[in-house]
Amino acid sequence: MSSWSGRRVDHVGIAVRDLDVALAFYRPLAGLPVHREVVAGDGVEVAFLKLGETELELLASRGPDSSVQRFLERRGEGLHHLALEVGDLAAELAEWRSRGAVLIDEAPRPGARGRQVAFVHPGSALGVLVELCQRVS
Ligand code: ZN
Repeated sequence: MSSWSGRRVDHVGIAVRDLDVALAFYRPLAGLPVHREVVAGDGVEVAFLKLGETELELLASRGPDSSVQRFLERRGEGLHHLALEVGDLAAELAEWRSRGAVLIDEAPRPGARGRQVAFVHPGSALGVLVELCQRVS
């Protein structure tokens, strides 16, 4: 990477089996309000809880073929991904690609909260599924 300036941890994603149970557990740790949304394209329902300067994203599967469902079946509940906010997602993807990273998403696509997102394969990011996200104003 040429520089880490401008990048920050946007949120940490946690895969859960039951979103209501997970919210009951995590809500006391975080401030309100909670943003809850179905992301149909990913087959998930998510809930974001603000936690200081960052957020927790709880992800529950809403489809048998979703990647979160496969994650839960293989590994159970737990840490799912680390999301970095970036200023220019297309440029960021080019930079990750130039460093040999395997991109799950070759181009930005719509994600939760109206943001553009793209995922980097954990096999090329030291075992961490990395989500790159960009706010769209
Ligand atoms: Zn996320």
